[in-house]
Amino acid sequence: MTGTGSTSVAVIGGGIAGVSVAHHLLQVDPGLDVVLLEMEATLAHHTTGRSAALLLENLGTPSMRILSSASLDHLRHTPEDLVDAPLLAHRPVLHVGTVEQDEAVDRMLAEGIETATTPTIEIDIDEAMRLFPPLRRERVHRAIVEPDSADIDVGALHQSFVRGFRRAGGRIATSTRVDAATPDGDGWRLDTTDGPVGVDVVVNCAGAWGDVVATTAGVAPVGLQPFRRTAFMVDGPGLDTTGWAFAGDIDHQWYLRDDGPQMFCSLAEENPSEPCDPKPEELDVAMAIDRLNEATTLGIRSVNSAWVGLRTFAPDRSMVIGPDPDRPSFIWCVGQGGTGIQTSAGAGRLTAELAVGGSPAAVFAGLDLDEVRPGRFRSRQ
Ligand SMILES: Cc1cc2nc3c(=O)[nH]c(=O)nc-3n(C[C@H](O)[C@H](O)[C@H](O)COP(=O)(O)OP(=O)(O)OC[C@H]3O[C@@H](n4cnc5c(N)ncnc54)[C@H](O)[C@@H]3O)c2cc1C
Repeated sequence: MTGTGSTSVAVIGGGIAGVSVAHHLLQVDPGLDVVLLEMEATLAHHTTGRSAALLLENLGTPSMRILSSASLDHLRHTPEDLVDAPLLAHRPVLHVGTVEQDEAVDRMLAEGIETATTPTIEIDIDEAMRLFPPLRRERVHRAIVEPDSADIDVGALHQSFVRGFRRAGGRIATSTRVDAATPDGDGWRLDTTDGPVGVDVVVNCAGAWGDVVATTAGVAPVGLQPFRRTAFMVDGPGLDTTGWAFAGDIDHQWYLRDDGPQMFCSLAEENPSEPCDPKPEELDVAMAIDRLNEATTLGIRSVNSAWVGLRTFAPDRSMVIGPDPDRPSFIWCVGQGGTGIQTSAGAGRLTAELAVGGSPAAVFAGLDLDEVRPGRFRSRQ
């Protein structure tokens, strides 16, 4: 399949990164011929479909935070023809610490004063209990709230990019795995499970498989490491949960929030994994239940459903965005880590702007491109 427009582009991966890049490519250059290739039968099957769906602006490296800020316009003022309802629902985030965790609370407050884009405020225990009533009061020694956070409707956000992309003439091929990419003249020949595809430019949005895709294209990997994170649903307390916060341990031992009549819970762990479709381990779920029952009065006994997602980081935990220095027609957009949903609009736009040889828009002011440059790991060797 060769593109019919002036330049043809294949975006590999139909998670939130891939659909945002595909949408933004056609926004920055409507003349491009863009196809999105996804190996699974449905889009968003992997990490994108397994997140905690939170917008927490004070999360991640400085470049991640700028990409989050650059995403706010799409999240808050999404063009009406791309969504049916608002993408954000306000929800404060509450971090609690026991007596033994005093230092961690001080660290988060100091970091908040120094670098936070939105407020990080210490609150008293009564206020913490009001924000998340099931907490065991005797275990809450100190508490911090980030009041400007929100839940993201991840399905609708993903769909907003798909709608924009399709309406601009983009094509999506599911059940199409890219097994190899071979340089072909100035472009690429992709061997896929649905036959060969010829394109001028490849964009690697393959999530946990980002280095696998690069290696099959003869491009040096950047050192991506996927980490497991377990999540599960349990019955809620049967109370009116209006106004409840997203609550978590200050040292990332657990977190949870209400989700309709259920509670969404996580062990918040970070265990290395190969790129794969990971399954929950009974021991991890049991450990999370123990911790949650110690910290709350929810009395969790059984789990309704459980899953694991892979949060994939580059070695310095910033994203990898832009043309490969050794193969400029191979573009990277990987290493989203734990902020790939909230940064998706910004990361997609930046990738598209760099892919067409443009400079970053004003919304990326303050972003040091060296922090996301794909060649940054190679130049150190
Ligand atoms: C438990 C958990 C909680 C999280 N909470 C949050 C949160 O609150 N807020 C937030 O912003 N982020 C959160 N994240 C992180 C976020 O989910 C990820 O950063 C984001 O989903 C990554 O998106 P992606 O498109 O890069 O990866 P993916 O969604 O994994 O997409 C990659 C796609 O590439 C496809 N692919 C791979 N190889 C090939 C190939 N060779 N050919 C064709 N297709 C291929 C895969 O099938 C997959 O669909 C969380 C993650 C987890 C696991």
